[in-house]
Amino acid sequence: MTNTAHTIDTALYDAVTDALRAEAKKVLESGTAAAVIGWQAGRRRGSAVPAIVTDPADAEKLIFSPSCVNNLALYLTKAKKEVREKGKLAVVAKGCDMKALAGLMGENQLKRDDVYIIGVACAGVYGPAIRGNAPLDDGTLARKCRECAAELPEGADVSLGTVPRRPAFTPHEAAELARLEAMTPAERWAFWKEHFSRCIRCYACRQVCPFCYCEQCLCDRNRPQAVETTPRPAGNMAWHMVRAMHLAGRCAGCAECERACPMDIPLNLLNRKMAKELKELYGHEAGFQAKEKGPLAEYREDDNQSFIK
Ligand code: SF4
Ligand code: SF4
Ligand code: SF4
Repeated sequence: MTNTAHTIDTALYDAVTDALRAEAKKVLESGTAAAVIGWQAGRRRGSAVPAIVTDPADAEKLIFSPSCVNNLALYLTKAKKEVREKGKLAVVAKGCDMKALAGLMGENQLKRDDVYIIGVACAGVYGPAIRGNAPLDDGTLARKCRECAAELPEGADVSLGTVPRRPAFTPHEAAELARLEAMTPAERWAFWKEHFSRCIRCYACRQVCPFCYCEQCLCDRNRPQAVETTPRPAGNMAWHMVRAMHLAGRCAGCAECERACPMDIPLNLLNRKMAKELKELYGHEAGFQAKEKGPLAEYREDDNQSFIK
């Protein structure tokens, strides 16, 4: 397929898949890593699911396609003991996933020397609910990919593929954030209240987030109970505030939480708003340096306190 005005050439994905299989085989045979975390074809036609490959013969199972949406950094935290027990890990990372890896290194979840990063050039992935072998275009592309500035992973041990020329997509995320910011505080409150009222507290957003690695989430505790666990308005509001505050200054913006949410709650809009506030208040942007400490984890005499009314 070739690029039309709003369609991405998907030939890249086949080329990267071939290179990825060869690289994974090499990495496992040489002992560079004991396991490669990547994606393999899922049960449904055209789908992809995370895969952990330890046998060089199984490297052939690995794929890269627009269905490879998962941020695999999730499997590298200390909480994933069963994965870490396999030995030194290699992980396949898209450009946007690299920010999560850098964040986890900064939080001491992972040492750079303990992971071999196989970067893949990426022209985009499907948005939620797109299945099969749909063309990658205006209607199917994930919203984050429309404004992507990280198609080539930086800082990987090896980088596979070359991104084709991408059509200029109309940005959605920036416009959505501008609409939110144009609201009055009362309108904004009503906006979030309505969205959070749909939350069923399935915690899919938490389970896919590389930064939600606490072995016991505050929101699951019942002795004492910090947050009401049933999906009712007060508990839902508290859960979303806890989520937003715990991720502020750490969220890598991968939008996995929003993709996984079955109730179509715009979680990454809240993440992006928090990220923007932290940039404006403290000049902080998550995921660009491995050894950073978020502004909410340290105190400085000259911290901006203008938000305190
Ligand atoms: S944001 Fe960029 S790197 Fe990430 S999936 Fe989309 S196009 Fe690929
Ligand atoms: S909060 Fe959402 S966007 Fe941020 S790192 Fe976690 S899953 Fe990704
Ligand atoms: S994934 Fe959606 S519905 Fe489930 S807990 Fe998170 S916000 Fe609520």
